[in-house]
Amino acid sequence: MESFTEYKYIDLEINEVLKRGILAMGYEKLTPIQAKAIPLILDGIDITGQAQTGTGKTAAFGIPMLEKIDAENKNVQALILAPTRELAMQIAEELRNYSKYMQGIRILPIYGGQSIDQQIKALKGAQIVVGTPGRVIDHLKRRTLKCKQIQMVVLDEADEMLNMGFREDIEVILNAIDHPHQTCLFSATMPKPILDISKNYQNYPEFIKVTSSQLTIANVTQYYYAIKKEYKYEALKRLLRHYRYSRCVIFCNTKTMVDELSDKLQRDGFNANGLHGDLNQKQRDFVMSQFRNNEIDLFICTDIAARGIDVDNVEAVINYDVPSEIEYYVHRIGRTGRAGKEGVSHTLCTSKEFRRLRQIENLCHVKMIEKEIPSAEE
Ligand code: AMP
Repeated sequence: MESFTEYKYIDLEINEVLKRGILAMGYEKLTPIQAKAIPLILDGIDITGQAQTGTGKTAAFGIPMLEKIDAENKNVQALILAPTRELAMQIAEELRNYSKYMQGIRILPIYGGQSIDQQIKALKGAQIVVGTPGRVIDHLKRRTLKCKQIQMVVLDEADEMLNMGFREDIEVILNAIDHPHQTCLFSATMPKPILDISKNYQNYPEFIKVTSSQLTIANVTQYYYAIKKEYKYEALKRLLRHYRYSRCVIFCNTKTMVDELSDKLQRDGFNANGLHGDLNQKQRDFVMSQFRNNEIDLFICTDIAARGIDVDNVEAVINYDVPSEIEYYVHRIGRTGRAGKEGVSHTLCTSKEFRRLRQIENLCHVKMIEKEIPSAEE
């Protein structure tokens, strides 16, 4: 399964300020669970989603939830239950990011171990509460969390909550919200107790299943280097001088950068040539044959130019730029480490690109190891 669909956030029919927050986070395309769940949840339909972390499920329920919140109404309108304090905090943080440009939205995580008095104060005016079941029950009992105006309940990582012994707590909470409302349930697995909760507390739920993409890049060691933009070229040269690759692909995000980099590298004595979509067929064939026949060591290209051409079995892939689209990352580094061979990738990352690097790690389920650029002596 691919990590993304063709649907874009820019085209999603939601509040423009909410959209601005989402785009500001670097989201472009919807993931499969988002593409399926967001329209249904916006339509008020209960959903049961079988999805793991890393599929983008937080946005799948968080975005339609934010779209539905009435900022003028200062009562709790949505409740999210999560198994752990870490997850509750993480969800609250993500929702705050999406709603960064929205006015009058308050999102509050509540969990055990934090002063209840402080939480009671903070609950005043919060419209979205993200809590662990135990602490939510505490507040319900104290009547410091009022559920009369709750329109939507989300159970996130429901199977984890059951594993942690929260089943009864969850039922107490769901029973307390006894007026019509929307209920969404997310769980990586669907054992019988989860299906029971769905049956008892959801109305005609739509079932959605996505599995996270399994990528075949397990044998690629992936490094990244945190560098300043102005040192990028110098860093690249050091890497190339240090490793002396003779079959290496260097990816850039733009054609201009491909041209610029090929010129510079050639001038600095490297055996390099570039390929991008603006070259005519003859030029393209020429560069390709150079690389195929090992006449050049470094092949510089854009993602588009590399599509469908035979540049596999390379020693190393260098991302001169962090890919502009997350899904490109996997396609890029999949060109090394083929046929059981060990591959390596180096990603140069400026501070501006750091967020995208983290998103790549999360969504592509990869881990990049931070490394220092070799010193001039090395
Ligand atoms: P989740 O499965 O909700 O834990 O999300 C995993 C990671 O993917 C988080 O870091 C999200 O910020 C990120 N993410 C979710 N949806 C998208 C998207 N459509 N585009 C880019 N990043 C996303």
